Amino acid sequence: MPDVLLWLRRDLRLHDLPALLAAADAADGGRVLPVFVLDPRLLGRSPVRDACLIDALTRVTDSYDDALVLRHGRPEDVIPDLVRSIGAHSVHITSDAAPFGVRRDEAVAARLDGVPLVRTGSGYAVGPGRVHTATNTPYKVFTPYARAWREHGWRAPATVPTGLRWMRTVETEDLPTRPDVAADLPEVGERSALERWARFREDIDSYDEDRDRPDLDATSRLSVDLKWGTIHPRTLLADLRGRAGAGVERFVTELAWREFYADVLWHNPDSAWHDLRPMPGMAYDDPDADPAVADAVDAWREGRTGYPLVDAGMRQLAAQGWMHNRVRMVTASFLVKHLHVWWPVGARWFLDHLADGDVASNNHGWQWVAGTGTDAAPYFRIFNPTAQGEKFDPNGEYVRRWVPELRGVTGRAVHKGAAAPGARGYPQPIVDHREARSEALLRYETSRRG
Ligand SMILES: Cc1cc2nc3c(=O)[nH]c(=O)nc-3n(C[C@H](O)[C@H](O)[C@H](O)COP(=O)(O)OP(=O)(O)OC[C@H]3O[C@@H](n4cnc5c(N)ncnc54)[C@H](O)[C@@H]3O)c2cc1C
Repeated sequence: MPDVLLWLRRDLRLHDLPALLAAADAADGGRVLPVFVLDPRLLGRSPVRDACLIDALTRVTDSYDDALVLRHGRPEDVIPDLVRSIGAHSVHITSDAAPFGVRRDEAVAARLDGVPLVRTGSGYAVGPGRVHTATNTPYKVFTPYARAWREHGWRAPATVPTGLRWMRTVETEDLPTRPDVAADLPEVGERSALERWARFREDIDSYDEDRDRPDLDATSRLSVDLKWGTIHPRTLLADLRGRAGAGVERFVTELAWREFYADVLWHNPDSAWHDLRPMPGMAYDDPDADPAVADAVDAWREGRTGYPLVDAGMRQLAAQGWMHNRVRMVTASFLVKHLHVWWPVGARWFLDHLADGDVASNNHGWQWVAGTGTDAAPYFRIFNPTAQGEKFDPNGEYVRRWVPELRGVTGRAVHKGAAAPGARGYPQPIVDHREARSEALLRYETSRRG
């Protein structure tokens, strides 16, 4: 009976995992060796990411009844070695659509000496690249994509195969030590994902109305699970079948945004780190070339800009490895449009500090803000961080939670920052909103006129 290998990556779960079903089918009574490769290229750069990965691996090892084998090294060395040593007939993976993953998987496939690398399913309800326009081109804007995505539909969740036989004869290696991180990170694992989902599902009806309010706990917090694959979006969508209402509709639309950005990246791998729609001649300030710009970027990173909503968001990011979506938009906009810094500087910072950091959602979210992406916010719409705070944190509770210097200020006056009565030691704004706005508009206009 054939033995096969199941190579886990960002699909760290047991349930609803089509690649596991495919592996069990291919083994046909033989054994399945589940393996995770600790790739040195992906470790040691972001303590938050390493901690999340190590937590998820610890939990998935339990779900796999201690059969999961860990190996350190480059996948194109480790996987072919394992295949040869156990005589595996096939290697099963969930397909990865991001540029790094695509290249990595091609490198592994090329060294398998004819043993098939079988891709089954993806981390999405509808795999990137599957939805096309009537003329067979990729969608460039969200709304028609989302319509076609819904029409395409998705499969039912995969079951856990019965009669699975794990291979237990291959030695595992140790997990790296979990880095000490200051952030209070969410639990990352299949059980906590399902619990988070069950809790959120109860409150989903108010999601449409409350999702833009960072002071409320009104969103699912499932981004970390979707990132690490401790839950699959298909599981969420299947649970929502037959449920109606604005909250459900809105939540499904947000999942579609995630899928849209993955689709965009699949078709445009360079958009990970380059403008999807370049703005020729656009002038940015370079923190590597100008110490004053570097200081301003540091103030942004550390939540010392003097704009309360921006600072609260950046401090929430440091404290929790997560930031509310509305605040991600405002903080990103501040870096690009108030400090005139090119979006990859901020995208890198986010990716290194978010527990849910995902190249497709993050880097296209940044490009949406910067005006270089799909569905870009019009360049002349520049968030006023004070007005955004007053609107979406109307009682100032979000700011007071994350900015202790403003805890003595009552109500929405916190959004006045250092000028608010009761503020203690809070910095003055590092830039003037009106001046920064005019400067951003001037630069955009200059670029548009060529
Ligand atoms: C500048 C910027 C950077 C971002 N970086 C990331 C990132 O690295 N990883 C990430 O998962 N999301 C990112 N987002 C999208 C969004 O902010 C987060 O998905 C959301 O805040 C996660 O919280 P939640 O799970 O409670 O979301 P919910 O409101 O509960 O939404 C449910 C799910 O829908 C998806 N979703 C929601 N909004 C978006 C969106 N705008 N774009 C793509 N998917 C979305 C996420 O998978 C999310 O978990 C970014 C947005 C911006 C503006």
